[in-house]
Amino acid sequence: MKKNDATLELSKEAMKTYGYNVVDAIVEHFDTQNEKLPIASGSRQEMDTLFLEEAPENASNPQEVLDFVLDEVITKSAIVSHPKSFSFVPGPSNYISAMADTLATGFNIFSGGWAASPAAAELEIVTMGWLLKIFGFPIKKGGGIFTSGGSMANLTAVATARRVRCGDDFSKAVIYLSDQAHSSNIKAIRVLGFRKEQIRVIPTDAEFKFSINKLKNAIAKDRIEGWQPFCLIATAGTTNTGTVDPLSEIAKICKAEDVWFHIDGAYGGAAILAKDGKSLLKGINKADSLTVDPHKWFFQPYEMGCLLVKNHKWLKQTFTEKPEYLRDIEGNTSEINFYDHGVQLTRRFRALKFYMSIKTFGLKAFRKAITYNVELAEEVEGKLRKSANWEVISPATLAVINFRFNPIGENLSEKNLDKINQYISEQVVSSQKALLVTTLLNGQVVLRMCLINPRTTMIDVNETFALCEEFAQNKLAV
Ligand SMILES: *Cc1c(COP(=O)(O)O)cnc(C)c1O
Repeated sequence: MKKNDATLELSKEAMKTYGYNVVDAIVEHFDTQNEKLPIASGSRQEMDTLFLEEAPENASNPQEVLDFVLDEVITKSAIVSHPKSFSFVPGPSNYISAMADTLATGFNIFSGGWAASPAAAELEIVTMGWLLKIFGFPIKKGGGIFTSGGSMANLTAVATARRVRCGDDFSKAVIYLSDQAHSSNIKAIRVLGFRKEQIRVIPTDAEFKFSINKLKNAIAKDRIEGWQPFCLIATAGTTNTGTVDPLSEIAKICKAEDVWFHIDGAYGGAAILAKDGKSLLKGINKADSLTVDPHKWFFQPYEMGCLLVKNHKWLKQTFTEKPEYLRDIEGNTSEINFYDHGVQLTRRFRALKFYMSIKTFGLKAFRKAITYNVELAEEVEGKLRKSANWEVISPATLAVINFRFNPIGENLSEKNLDKINQYISEQVVSSQKALLVTTLLNGQVVLRMCLINPRTTMIDVNETFALCEEFAQNKLAV
């Protein structure tokens, strides 16, 4: 009999020691991350010098590999959960969910089909039900799927909309989105093979909202020219400014025009749990499909996105294939095989972290945290408005605010304002003390803060402004 000594195993004792060391490192990180520097930097050359090697043929001591990784690899990543990580959309995460992911990976749970893991499928149904209820979607008829992130959820949405509305012939189909829609939507549209002339990017109004007038014009013109308007993507919380498109009005247009209504609420959707969430996101329940990204403002670690749909049959209609090697595990219709609801067959058990964190902390804690974030951004806005040095460019909306340094009395030209605000961001970033980068609004260089971390305080914000002002004053002095 052949004997294999390459089973990739460790002794029970070695596994324990190794595992405890990993947990210790993670706990230490959660305990001390607020005091670390949020920014990592490193050129390709520096990283090559550290890591580039041939795949080693021979074994190494496990602890040595782990120590090397903890010292050199982990330390060279931005801490997106840091309270002064203000840019892009931060990932505040939470410890319970990190441990839930560890369990899901440790047990390598296959979350594709019911037969393999009925409880995993059930938890996806249950947590999806929680989200359907939170967003006012029909709980029985509605459905959804957890994805790797918002990009994948948007791709799944557009694929579904096309399948349901156009079937096989989408040569005349056109899709509408605003110039503030997230880039992942255009990416999805391209991946799905739409031609450029099938995409309508509608300009936004002065408040960065979908222009209803321009939208109506575009749809009418397309009909005259024989196009088939089939899908519209609105945004509930644009990445730039947190703006929510006029969802109720758009819903009416979509209904009248028989157009699929997708809402990208990847980061902003979570605001439904804030105190005034229902009014902030009025109309969100009118969508045919909705993207939310639990790995953003629902505080889950990467990777977790989610697509909700009004009718779960749409997903099945779009993604079901029946290969012979899966025939024995098909099961009955109430027992959902999530591989029939999206692109992935083999899927990690994403629902577990959502389930465990909400069970552990309670939805009330999430409501409080999200409300805190919305109100913190409003407080920051108030502070900026009262200051002689700062100008608010777009008001606090769903915890995002844009502003620039523009001191009274200096009368800086637009060009110099762009320069100094760019300079502030560059200096702050190279200090590594805060992650604060710029965006462009109406052609102006502005600083943007996304305040969705419940551990960020006004002190963090004040310290960051003080740092900005110091750099700015130095620059003005020369
Ligand atoms: C972040 C974001 C996305 C993309 O989501 P990923 O999880 O990064 O793939 C899409 N839309 C909006 C509005 C976002 O903020």
